[in-house]
Amino acid sequence: MKSSISSRISIGVGVLLFFLGLFMLVDEATAASLFAFLFSDVQTLQVAGIVLQGLGGLLILNGTIKLFTSEAKARTTENQALIIGLMQRVDKVEKRTVDVAAKLISLEQAQTVQESMAGFTKCRFCGAKIAPGTAFCPNCGRSQK
Ligand SMILES: [Zn+2]
Repeated sequence: MKSSISSRISIGVGVLLFFLGLFMLVDEATAASLFAFLFSDVQTLQVAGIVLQGLGGLLILNGTIKLFTSEAKARTTENQALIIGLMQRVDKVEKRTVDVAAKLISLEQAQTVQESMAGFTKCRFCGAKIAPGTAFCPNCGRSQK
């Protein structure tokens, strides 16, 4: 924001210098009497007017470029903060998903252990679960003997 203030000052001073130069060129008589202590002749006054206009123009240009650059930077920083926030949220969701998946896996493992303890087997052909004492697979119907 500090650079934004200096850019605005640069633009303001540039406008003042530009119009001072313009005034010196347009109203030579008044300018000559006003700046008589500075310029002895009209030609010097004209040159000074042109120089002031050029200088003012440069300051305006410089300030404007700086202002746009600093605003663009500020916007980029805002966007980066937004993206980082979103990434952190995605990270949290991912961690929660991993937690849920881990719980599901441990539940499945517990179920498998329970089933094997209860005497459940797997079909020799399709791998389906078969209750103890069942001769035929409930999934593919093939004999397990
Ligand atoms: Zn089967």
